[in-house]
Amino acid sequence: MALNNSQYDAIMRDYYRRQTMHRRQMEERVREVREKLPRIREIDDEIASASVQCARQLLSGNDNALSALKKHIAVLGAQRQEVLLAGGFPADYMELTYDCPDCHDLGYINGQKCHCFQKAEIDLLYTQSNLRDILDEENFQTFSFDYYSAELKEEISGVSSLERMQKVHAVCRQFIRDFDTTDANLFFYGDTGVGKTFLSHCIARELLDTTHSVVYFSAQELFEIIAQKRFGKSEQPEGTLDGIYDCDLLIIDDLGTEITNTFVNSELFLCINERLTSRKSTIISTNLSLKAFKDTYSERIFSRISTNYTMLKLFGKDIRLLKKMERNSLNRSKKSLE
Ligand SMILES: [Zn+2]
Repeated sequence: MALNNSQYDAIMRDYYRRQTMHRRQMEERVREVREKLPRIREIDDEIASASVQCARQLLSGNDNALSALKKHIAVLGAQRQEVLLAGGFPADYMELTYDCPDCHDLGYINGQKCHCFQKAEIDLLYTQSNLRDILDEENFQTFSFDYYSAELKEEISGVSSLERMQKVHAVCRQFIRDFDTTDANLFFYGDTGVGKTFLSHCIARELLDTTHSVVYFSAQELFEIIAQKRFGKSEQPEGTLDGIYDCDLLIIDDLGTEITNTFVNSELFLCINERLTSRKSTIISTNLSLKAFKDTYSERIFSRISTNYTMLKLFGKDIRLLKKMERNSLNRSKKSLE
């Protein structure tokens, strides 16, 4: 699930880097001890020459040589330990250390991914999602229905802003639950500040934490990156576009705020179509009404979206504005206490 080859290679390179670092550090500690405690060096030399002697005896047919060597080494090992402790070093000072004592920094235990590998996967996915910091603030734990009014009603349906959000919230939860077994897509539309981006973040957080690759772009960023790639001016690392087409979930936020032209129309269609064909989920959000959306983008884009996406309309007060007002009044009351 989730990792492509270059992501997998990046994680394995990191394991290799850690192994090398720990080996170097151990060699450094061994050098330090041998310099400070010459007796350790003598014992190590004794162990080495006893081993050579044993090998010779084995070759000349002495079958007892190995067990004798083991005993000899055990005695020397105990002496070595005593000298080390007496010299003021911890008992394991000359041992190889590991970041993960469970898999010894190999990433796998008996062919199964170690817990540290799974954590590395999630870390990498977070970094590549473009969402690393925001998700601590915007997730289902910090989500609140308090911003949605039971009084404010949509004229045509008579549904309140709160009822609508409860329904959409349930759809999002379902989307996450069924993510691995279905290839659903969501289309959030509605005015600025009604929680479309926040909901995308909530979903992203849940999926990243279960090692799905999620990539987030505002529409403007997305088309800039695609243009840079297509026209060869990209400073982005190789494979960025693959990430856009292949990730488990692509979030395109604020569609309609970019400059819409033929290029945007054809690339958007390509992107949506590629992802539908490869059965990868996409979330799109826009401030445009459905009519405005239809007028802005090509007929084939609208048709793909309206037949393959769950259309979710949100409405209500501008939460960003409400939050700003809350913060201001909090600051005012703080100041009046000072
Ligand atoms: Zn491990």
